[in-house]
Amino acid sequence: MDSPASTPSADASLSTRLERLPGVGTARAEKLAKLGLVTVRDALMHFPRDYRDFSGAHAVADLVEGEHASLAGEVTEVGSRTLFSGRSMLTVSLDCGGGRVRAVWFGMPFMAKRFAKGMSVVIAGQPRFSSGAWEFAHPDVRWLAGGEDVHASDWLAIYPLAEGVQQSHVRLAVQAALAHAVGVCPEALPEAMLEAKALLPIEAAFREIHRPSSQEMIAAARRRFVYQELFMLQLALRMHRARQQTAKAAPSITVDARLDARIRARFPFEFTAAQKRVCAEIAADMARTEPMNRLLQGDVGSGKTAIAVYAMLAAVGTRVAPEAAERYQAAIMAPTELLARQHHQTLSRLLAGSGVDVELLVGGQTAKQREASLARVAAGTAGIVVGTQALVTGAARFRHLGLVVIDEQHRFGVLQRAVLQQGQADPHTLVMTATPIPRTIAHAVYGDLDVSVLDETPPGRQPVATYRVGPDDLDRWWEFVRKKLAAGRRGYVVVPAVEESKRDLASIASAYESLANGPLEAFRLGLIHGRLKAKEKAEVMEAFRSGRLDVLVATSVIEVGIDVPEATIMTILDAESFGLAQLHQLRGRVARGATQGLCGAVTASQAEPHPRVDAFVATTDGFQLAEQDLMLRGPGDLVGTKQSGMPPLYLADLLRDGSVVAEARRDALEVFQRDPHLGDPALERLRKLILDRWGATLGLGEVS
Ligand code: ADP
Ligand code: MG
Repeated sequence: MDSPASTPSADASLSTRLERLPGVGTARAEKLAKLGLVTVRDALMHFPRDYRDFSGAHAVADLVEGEHASLAGEVTEVGSRTLFSGRSMLTVSLDCGGGRVRAVWFGMPFMAKRFAKGMSVVIAGQPRFSSGAWEFAHPDVRWLAGGEDVHASDWLAIYPLAEGVQQSHVRLAVQAALAHAVGVCPEALPEAMLEAKALLPIEAAFREIHRPSSQEMIAAARRRFVYQELFMLQLALRMHRARQQTAKAAPSITVDARLDARIRARFPFEFTAAQKRVCAEIAADMARTEPMNRLLQGDVGSGKTAIAVYAMLAAVGTRVAPEAAERYQAAIMAPTELLARQHHQTLSRLLAGSGVDVELLVGGQTAKQREASLARVAAGTAGIVVGTQALVTGAARFRHLGLVVIDEQHRFGVLQRAVLQQGQADPHTLVMTATPIPRTIAHAVYGDLDVSVLDETPPGRQPVATYRVGPDDLDRWWEFVRKKLAAGRRGYVVVPAVEESKRDLASIASAYESLANGPLEAFRLGLIHGRLKAKEKAEVMEAFRSGRLDVLVATSVIEVGIDVPEATIMTILDAESFGLAQLHQLRGRVARGATQGLCGAVTASQAEPHPRVDAFVATTDGFQLAEQDLMLRGPGDLVGTKQSGMPPLYLADLLRDGSVVAEARRDALEVFQRDPHLGDPALERLRKLILDRWGATLGLGEVS
């Protein structure tokens, strides 16, 4: 592999635009751009989501309806005709030694040109037995000689796609990119390390991840990328930590018995034992001058907000110096404006008459309001600042920021936690999530992070009674809902909306109409969805909160954090279209008071098994559901690296590759201890990659 110094043109070459590669062309390139694939680098980094056996090893006699198979054969006949519907149908007959099969394509007349009698091909797909023979509709094809798509591998990569982009487009672009990149891929890992750890060099890793020569090589390629990703992340975190320790100290916030009692007296309830324990853990952290780095995990409804408020009050209750009048400030960031407003309300209510100024920073404010808030934040008179991430991290300048809380970090993503370092001190950080993450994984992704678990729900809570409601049960379910509403309950009806597009909005509106004119005719309904203006959303929410509405028809904008304890009955329409974690979050909205919550998951089929919905109905334990989710859904983007142009790290990968996680962590520590500035020329490339990738987020810019 080329050394970094000898490849000054390497980056330029990986930056080559895809339309300039042979066979890609402008039209295809435009489509690929929808997937974010613009340069050679993008294409190389577009990792397959799966692989299909393309070995041609199956025999006709072994075919099973609907099960993936791959057969090698010789073309005996190519026939095209036009169907009654006007669509074309291409039929290619194959002699596969042990028998014959048909491959068919509809509406793709141009495919005919690519087949001729006597050609050897491998097809792969799901067969169906039809009119006396096995048939593959739109199979993947590998031409064994000639043709543009010759593929030397037995394993065919399957790529994530976007609307209007086909597998074959992506495959072609990736293959062209691979050919283009030969000899110009810069290797980031030192050669000695590749050897010692038996890791594939970068070019081989790219080749094998896209055109694997065997299943073992897929694993080897993945191992290389996962290792590199984690190794870099660990180094970045080490560098960040070293800077924190040398650069600035965190304020020491000491919670004595008096302050503790004063804070607790503000709450209308007694803390649970788990809440007390976690508060003590946080108090111990904040007393130190090393910034706290704590992740709080607690299932939906376990009372994480109270913990955040406790910690924030500890900060605003502490003077910046013994004789000073000024006190520390605290900030809490929420993923949505709706949630930020709710927190603002909760805090304002809780702190009424306390003299603590609670500021709101959200997009829906007028510029004047916001400026006034920002001024108070900068002056230090704003004690607690509640806002959306973008605003708090982007616009606010604090005078004495002591603590930052990041709420509902359930995507468990991107390391924004470090972005709020300003002023003379680094603030303490508390990240809260309802997603249970194994401790080892949390360590791997967040570095040296302490974890607290809120493993107890407030007293008197009962698990939400959850039912699957099939078409035959629907009338009875609405009858039940009406009875409960008439008895004074409030509730939600959740409608799915994938992207809240125009079409989604139309279907939300029609769902609302049919509820308002149908089963829920007698009640006061409100409608809330992502496309409403922030102010409208806030108004609808307020009407529901205050009891002026009985039912809130909502999209999953209410999924995260919304807390209206009086709402105790939920109907989820088209439950099949929600993810398991999402269903659980949604149900959490009606598990917040002493009255038992009720939830109906409406499905299109009466009794047909549905793994997600059935799991959801079977248990209310978030940890158990998270495990099931992982099993059913497979990997999800863990570190939120999709936009960064790096291969995403998947939780499933991390679980599966637990040993790689530990190894990368150990190695990073060792390298860092030997060479904390990564000054070794062999690490130069790596250092640059790390700075590009994490420099801004982790404030590593000036590490030299
Ligand atoms: P989450 O952990 O999902 O963020 P919240 O902090 O919103 O949960 O708390 C859920 C509900 O439980 C809120 O209405 C809150 O006031 C209430 N709550 C929290 N702690 C207690 C407690 N110790 N006793 C009684 N109610 C509590
Ligand atoms: Mg919450």
